[in-house]
Amino acid sequence: MKNRKVVLVGTGFVGMSMAYAMLNRGGINELVLIDVDKEKAIGEQMDLSHGMPYAPEKMKITAGDYADCKDAAVVVITAGIAQKPGQTRLELTLTNAKIVKEITENIMASGFNGIIVVASNPVDIMTYVVSKVSKLPKGKVIGSGTVLDTARLRYMLADYFKISSKNIHAYILGEHGDSSFVPWTHAYIGCKKVLDVMKDNNHSIEVLDKIHESVWKAAYEIIEKKKATYYAIGMALNRIVRAILDNENSILTVSTYLDGKYGEEDVYIGIPSVINKHGVVDTVELELTKEDQVKLDKSCNVLKEINKEIVEKLGLC
Ligand code: NAD
Repeated sequence: MKNRKVVLVGTGFVGMSMAYAMLNRGGINELVLIDVDKEKAIGEQMDLSHGMPYAPEKMKITAGDYADCKDAAVVVITAGIAQKPGQTRLELTLTNAKIVKEITENIMASGFNGIIVVASNPVDIMTYVVSKVSKLPKGKVIGSGTVLDTARLRYMLADYFKISSKNIHAYILGEHGDSSFVPWTHAYIGCKKVLDVMKDNNHSIEVLDKIHESVWKAAYEIIEKKKATYYAIGMALNRIVRAILDNENSILTVSTYLDGKYGEEDVYIGIPSVINKHGVVDTVELELTKEDQVKLDKSCNVLKEINKEIVEKLGLC
């Protein structure tokens, strides 16, 4: 894509981890930082810009406002209140939904017509809110979904099997949260099924459940220890933005709008999806086992109920 301008709304830990990843990786012409705390955005702009001499490419960094969204290719929303120790993502919902609604109205008022990537939690619900408020085509609103969870899973499986995480093809589906699941029948190490590797090496299948448990507990554990998680999600967001700007047709488990696929509709949820310069252009429909379909339905039902409540409370019906 010629237009490689990105606007970041929310210059907190998550947003600035993404910005730092972008500066280190290159490939973004212009990055605009917006925050309700304008001084913070200016401070972050200064600090990040001073790293430019050691970056692979020039990246114009400014502290701006919503008018800057007008000609941006991608706007990334990481604004909001972060999860507190012991707090579930769903408890954050209404507070962040109000913030995200206001931000989306401001973005759209600029005349923006690009792609919005959402990371604010609970991300599947915030993505639904952004979609409702922006009225952009569904594929142009993308949540970070289970891209981070999938990275954690790949890292942990790589560590267990002593195989590069690049060769771990396993995905977490469902809500970015407690009801996510791994369709193990579709998980591969290189070109061999994980389930066959376990069987052939006499490893207990329970190990896989333990690994998944470690994945969904990871956020709680990290927050308990250092109050927030941000480096890995920063890299995950950079990965999503690059898939858009480089027109990659990459498959990532972003939060995608389902309108009949997997037997579900009117919900944004983490599903393997094809991403290019138009946003999400397709979803990969896996044949799920009965148990996995039940898990996905459960995830969707949890989200749909909250979406309904939030949409009513925000007057978006
Ligand atoms: P943070 O508190 O460090 O940063 C949030 C930033 O948002 C702050 O700079 C704040 O000033 C800004 N902000 C608040 N209201 C705003 C508004 N109305 N307009 C513009 N900016 C506003 O928090 P963080 O650790 O960066 O987390 C940000 C969000 O990302 C949280 O909702 C968190 O739960 C979420 N998160 C998501 C994932 C994921 O996988 N999707 C992972 C980690 C964190």
